Amino acid sequence: MRTTQFNADDMVIIGGGLAGLFCALKLAPRPVTVVTAAPIGEGASTAWAQGGIAAAVAEGDTPEAHARDTILAGAGLVDETVALAMAREAPDRIRDLLAYGVPFDKDLEGRLTVGREAAHSARRIVHVRGDQAGAAIMAALVAAVRDSPSIRLLEGYVAEELLTGDRRVIGVQVRGTDGLLRNIPARAVVLASGGLGHLYAVTTNPNQARGHGLAIAARAGAVIADPEFVQFHPTAIDIGRDPAPLATEAIRGEGARLVNRAGERFMLKIHRDAELGPRDIVARGVFAELAAGRGAFLDARGAIPDFAQRFPGVTASCRIAGIDPARDLIPVAPAAHYHMGGVATDANGRTSLDGLWAAGEVASTGAHGANRLASNSLLEAVVYAARIAEDIGQLPLQKSVRFAEAPLGSAPVATSDPAREQALRRLMSSHVGVIRDRDGLSDALSEIARMERECARVPQLRNMATAALLVTAAALRREESRGGHYRSDYPNADPAQQKRTFLTLDDAYAIAASVTPARRAVA
Ligand SMILES: Cc1cc2nc3c(=O)[nH]c(=O)nc-3n(C[C@H](O)[C@H](O)[C@H](O)COP(=O)(O)OP(=O)(O)OC[C@H]3O[C@@H](n4cnc5c(N)ncnc54)[C@H](O)[C@@H]3O)c2cc1C
Repeated sequence: MRTTQFNADDMVIIGGGLAGLFCALKLAPRPVTVVTAAPIGEGASTAWAQGGIAAAVAEGDTPEAHARDTILAGAGLVDETVALAMAREAPDRIRDLLAYGVPFDKDLEGRLTVGREAAHSARRIVHVRGDQAGAAIMAALVAAVRDSPSIRLLEGYVAEELLTGDRRVIGVQVRGTDGLLRNIPARAVVLASGGLGHLYAVTTNPNQARGHGLAIAARAGAVIADPEFVQFHPTAIDIGRDPAPLATEAIRGEGARLVNRAGERFMLKIHRDAELGPRDIVARGVFAELAAGRGAFLDARGAIPDFAQRFPGVTASCRIAGIDPARDLIPVAPAAHYHMGGVATDANGRTSLDGLWAAGEVASTGAHGANRLASNSLLEAVVYAARIAEDIGQLPLQKSVRFAEAPLGSAPVATSDPAREQALRRLMSSHVGVIRDRDGLSDALSEIARMERECARVPQLRNMATAALLVTAAALRREESRGGHYRSDYPNADPAQQKRTFLTLDDAYAIAASVTPARRAVA
């Protein structure tokens, strides 16, 4: 057995996106280890954020107005106390980011300039060089982290399991690129592993957003909240790229239309605002056209003459596929974009398990309800990362001890299985995606439960299947439509079900055991 040594850390953070890095910086100079599946700066949704961060910093705007918009967007499930407290802390967290070196856009007087986004009643989106917020935030935080001697980085390590004992989380098991498992003991583990877009065949999320954090927390016994609520972006560019590039909503705002292969504007008969209707309704419209085999395309020809200048990123993505938006239709599909659900936390980011905290997209704080308000996710990540740092910063320091790495045995371990992974992603998109119903969800749940049992020895695929199981079980149990969750067999919201979902993995297994699959062809 190899016996490479690891020092025991007081704190381990899983994930190097905004939530993880911000928490590590806030904890400095306390020693902390950040474990990330990809090198920091890569493999994080944060780096791809285009809009910015919502914060009531403009004259005339208030945290109360910000909270009201958040509550309205969340379709009856936002925790109002959480939304208001988050909005009130936003200006302080923006100041923190400025202090870490994030170059938010300012006017000539040095005041932050703020943009407007859909469903915000005021201009309140703090941004960087137009659409560069995410990249600029990551660049500043990565530099600050690399400059902090108290932060140890373990890049290229995938967390596969939480270590538990005495009814609390006591560390994390990670696998390096060498295939070896290592146990990292910790007094405090912070999950900051992002979302789960890659459970779906079409997603805007980076490859590392696979729901691992949700799965390992649930397997350790943590309560999961609202997992059925997934937000789909209506217009990802459907050119076979994984992840799919976004065709930003601004293109429709500038007059581009959604048409099917026959040239019909299918959104006209679905919503009075047609292409500019709410995100979830447009996503369903696009999904229905694709499901019916009629195709869905953005038609920007004529409407936006200077398209290449206005949307250089979209133009570049199209050109790779031989599409010229000035002459051609742009094929689009709805893409899994943001997970409102996650590991349930309290106001300090504590989960239901002692020793485990969660922040960012992997957490469910109650701030988003059934639908996220644009640009609130980066805000939620910094607000809760700061609160967690304050909460665990009060723990007494532990003496450093040395642990041997876990023996692996002689057989090589396959961490994933690309063919089954693709089958899972197709199944999620077709049966647990934009439009759901009982038969489809029942079939999917039986299939996913079987896959989860069968791939116990393929740990990273199993974690994807576990996360998919939680989403699907909760989607089957919620017999209504609300926010990001749409059931064609229950198309309306039901006031009796206006409450958040809380479930454990055992609850999800029980739901799976109770279903009778309709036995339609799956994936
Ligand atoms: C294209 C796009 C545009 C967006 N635009 C906006 C916007 O304008 N405003 C806004 O507020 N939100 C936006 N969002 C959402 C927002 O970017 C994310 O919700 C937010 O960045 C999540 O931050 P995070 O730190 O929780 O996760 P991430 O930034 O995704 O970081 C997760 C980290 O965990 C690591 N990780 C994952 N699994 C493991 C594992 N098993 N072991 C170890 N490490 C692991 C990853 O490698 C990564 O380092 C956008 C999202 C996308 C995809």
